[in-house]
Amino acid sequence: MDLIKEECGVIGVFGVPQASYLAYQGIYAMQHRGQESAGILSSFNGQMCVWKGMGLVSEVFQHFDFDKLPGSMAIAHNRYSTTGGNRLSNAQPLCMETRFNMVGVAHNGNLINAGKIRKQLQNQGAIFQTSTDSEVIIHLLSRNREKTFEESLKSALSKVKGSYCITAMSNGKLIAARDPWGFRPLVLGKIGTGWVIASETCAFDLIGAEYVREIEPGEIVIITETGARSIYMDRKERSSRCVFEYVYFSRPDSIIFGSNCDKIRREMGRQLARESPCPDADIVVSVPDSSNTAALGFSEQSGIRFEIGLIRNHYVGRTFIKPDQSDRSLSVRVKFNPVKGVLKGKKIVLVEDSIVRGTTLQELIKLMKDHGGAGEVHVRVASPPVKAPCFFGIDFSTKKELIASRKPVEEIRKFIGADSLKYLSLQGMLNVAPGGQGKYCYGCFSGRYPMPPPKHFEKTMMENSC
Ligand code: SF4
Repeated sequence: MDLIKEECGVIGVFGVPQASYLAYQGIYAMQHRGQESAGILSSFNGQMCVWKGMGLVSEVFQHFDFDKLPGSMAIAHNRYSTTGGNRLSNAQPLCMETRFNMVGVAHNGNLINAGKIRKQLQNQGAIFQTSTDSEVIIHLLSRNREKTFEESLKSALSKVKGSYCITAMSNGKLIAARDPWGFRPLVLGKIGTGWVIASETCAFDLIGAEYVREIEPGEIVIITETGARSIYMDRKERSSRCVFEYVYFSRPDSIIFGSNCDKIRREMGRQLARESPCPDADIVVSVPDSSNTAALGFSEQSGIRFEIGLIRNHYVGRTFIKPDQSDRSLSVRVKFNPVKGVLKGKKIVLVEDSIVRGTTLQELIKLMKDHGGAGEVHVRVASPPVKAPCFFGIDFSTKKELIASRKPVEEIRKFIGADSLKYLSLQGMLNVAPGGQGKYCYGCFSGRYPMPPPKHFEKTMMENSC
């Protein structure tokens, strides 16, 4: 799998002693949604306490004493950015003194008009502390005339465009908001008499919370001592949930957009086998770990045995030093090792969840043939060709980095060195996704987006999105 830097993960915990420790466990479970910085903000007696740092959750909170983050309410965040925005000042949650006293915000998504709003606010004298798009929301809510925090947040959010899932705290309230298109997942859960909100339900499983429901596109949930209630933004006729969450981003053990991600991903593998079988292959192998579930689906549907033909080294950190930083082959070899006893002389169906740049897959196939002794490698991709950029929080932001925008399938096949290459059709993917085509964004596969993409897409703001 080409490395796709994704979005972020957010969580909010309310009404539970030592909420910060549960928030910590939650972002630990959602580490896959952001690995560049992590932070927790807790609320105690009207005060807010924060701890943030660069790196994995385990690094940021190594030997951490959670008594330093007291209180029964907390929000937390995992962040991914591209290199330009990767610095401590951009780590979240953000916390600022406003007319609503202290306000804390954690944001997952990308606001496509944040650059324009930021410039307007700066021209009016606003001073920004970070270069993230998320800070724009705090400025907007602080400046409008609404009386309550939640109405003020609603008014602020009506001015931004793009994707956002937010957990926020102010004056003893925990608030969650999801954009009216519903790009990113956000779920509501119960833990004892308390509440929890998270990007994915895998966070609930670790802390022992019970899944209640998906927070609806355009919904703002306000949680206080008296319970949870909702207000709504102007809702769209159709939602635009990101179908890539099913393809790759989310953990297969999470419930995403109301459905079990494992089931959908597996069905995508089955549909792929129906559309593009490889009848005389000996074995099905996945590119671990992200393609495991789709490969199992392909194997079940085709009746071809699933084998573990590639072993992934899970301990390769970001700090692995190569003598030559451009040595891509070494990067792939350190991460994956072929199982010779499985691959040697075999005709293999290699199932991949998606191809973005194609360079990792090229090295992987070479590795399987040269070092693993694979006879033939037939690649089956459990999503359509990624042809267009994403403006809603994923870092493939330019067309030129997408191999399928430049080359037809046969040329991609030659480039990666596969014996055959087939993709899941767009219609096949959308038929599998629950609710069908009208419920999803699939802009990176079709080039058609749920809202007009910005004319001059601001790379800088993209780098600093969450
Ligand atoms: S463009 Fe692709 S990755 Fe971006 S939100 Fe839409 S489906 Fe998801």
